[in-house]
Amino acid sequence: MVRMLLWAAIGGALSEMASIIIVGSGVAGTVLARQLLANGDHQITMFEAGPEFASGNRRIWLDHLVGNNRIYEPFVDDPRMENENFGLRGSRLFMKGGTTNHWGGLTPRFKPEDFELKSRTGYGADWPIDYDEMAPWYARAEILLGVTGDSDNDDPPRYGARYPFPATEFTLGDRVVIDSLESLEISYGHMSIARSGDRCITTGTCDYCPVNARYTALFDLDQLQIEYGDRLTLRTESPVTRILMDGKRRTRGVDFLDLKTGAPGSMEAEAVIVCGGTFESCKLLLSSAGTDWVDGIGNDSGHVGRHLIGHPVFFASGVRPGNPDRIANELGFDSLISRHFDSPEYQHKGKMWFSGGAGMTSSLEELILADVSRSEMNASIASGLMVSLGGEMEQFESPENRVTLGRGKTRHGLPTTEIHVGVHEINLQARQEHVQTFVEILKTAGCKEDGIETGALNPDGAHASATCRMSRSDADGVVDPNLQVHGTDNLYICSNAVFPSIAAANPTLTLAALAVRLGDYLN
Ligand SMILES: Cc1cc2nc3c(=O)[nH]c(=O)nc-3n(C[C@H](O)[C@H](O)[C@H](O)COP(=O)(O)OP(=O)(O)OC[C@H]3O[C@@H](n4cnc5c(N)ncnc54)[C@H](O)[C@@H]3O)c2cc1C
Ligand code: SF4
Repeated sequence: MVRMLLWAAIGGALSEMASIIIVGSGVAGTVLARQLLANGDHQITMFEAGPEFASGNRRIWLDHLVGNNRIYEPFVDDPRMENENFGLRGSRLFMKGGTTNHWGGLTPRFKPEDFELKSRTGYGADWPIDYDEMAPWYARAEILLGVTGDSDNDDPPRYGARYPFPATEFTLGDRVVIDSLESLEISYGHMSIARSGDRCITTGTCDYCPVNARYTALFDLDQLQIEYGDRLTLRTESPVTRILMDGKRRTRGVDFLDLKTGAPGSMEAEAVIVCGGTFESCKLLLSSAGTDWVDGIGNDSGHVGRHLIGHPVFFASGVRPGNPDRIANELGFDSLISRHFDSPEYQHKGKMWFSGGAGMTSSLEELILADVSRSEMNASIASGLMVSLGGEMEQFESPENRVTLGRGKTRHGLPTTEIHVGVHEINLQARQEHVQTFVEILKTAGCKEDGIETGALNPDGAHASATCRMSRSDADGVVDPNLQVHGTDNLYICSNAVFPSIAAANPTLTLAALAVRLGDYLN
């Protein structure tokens, strides 16, 4: 149990004191803060490197809608952090609410076999916790994130837990893909999405929602500040630059920088929880090296920053002649998912899930802007149907895939990042096979083979994971099953960084489930 203290002296100067410091205001930090505030008596200070931002603001939304698609550009990564096999491509956001400000909200659970990768395939590492242990935390996270889904689909098993909102109906475009999947005997289901189903009015601009229907940590944090303003302090534009240790085991707080004034500061606390995302969390451990932890905190066995993995993605599209039903893209988000290849038999070469749909070959907006007549518009719409598929697959790790501290500082006053990533041959082969599966589905849907286009991208920072992986022993990883840094008493990491493997599914529901679990543990 961590208790509240008020003020303490550091080196003679009076310095602020919180009972718990959370580093990072993304979904991990926010879900965790909610658990700690709702069920405990903690005084929390949350440090966020990036600035404030307004949620559900009609003016921002209107600007975004009429053409300013760059609302998050001021908050993206340092462009120097690129790597041929693992580009960041502006994926992470440094701002209040972190990266969920522009996430997709797709929230599938991992499957039971995902927690046993090493035992089942020989690759990577097993999780020190299993699916059954995670199941109740998944159910709580689904409620907190407002997830829509099919409560009767028991793959993976739900043990009776209901989604808080029903699944989104399949669209007419989904039906085109579904017909093809059924004739190829490929299973499919409803996509689960964090979008507070009762508020969503399907305007389709989900990377900035005017009514806060899509889950973002930004809006969640706004609510927390209203509900618990007396016990939650958010310090934006305040990057934490160092974790302070009292001897080897105990952290006593953090050093930070106030970017508004340029002044450095310190804060003490009874516990520090690092929720800075996969890159910054491991970098903070590395840059806090000292006499007791010469290679960085938690890094005596050399795992901090290693094992970096993400999701290779791939896509394919083709045109089916004729669109007599004038099917158009109805939703701005995915409502269909196939997890057919996200199953134990595909695990040894890299499981994958995919989504898809069908719509017009050119956008209505483009036709209007091109000033075409109504009959020309009708003819264009009826001329063909664009069928598209996109998926992502599990990547296997290598200890040589790693994040290290670069030279110089970012604009947030943090060390720059270096990424060293090679290519796993088996993943490349599997990706090629998965793309061929897409081609078969499109041909079966009636697309002309010579017009089918395919593509693939290496992983990026979006789903980056495993740089502080969870393990039973400090010889194999960085944090224990309670997310406590091995060899310390009161320092925790809550991030995709703790995943020992990444599965095929998107990571954030699993991250939120771990955050709920950590919150209960600390209470
Ligand atoms: C385009 C895109 C789409 C995505 N879609 C999906 C999806 O559909 N489904 C899914 O499951 N996942 C998706 N993701 C991934 C998802 O966004 C991440 O899993 C999730 O945001 C991670 O949350 P986090 O809290 O760990 O990190 P973040 O959200 O990145 O938050 C970390 C915060 O910590 C701050 N910070 C970092 N270091 C410091 C420091 N030293 N001091 C102070 N503050 C610091 C950062 O500024 C940031 O605000 C997507 C990602 C991208 C980029
Ligand atoms: S579709 Fe729903 S979640 Fe997306 S922007 Fe519209 S209301 Fe918000």
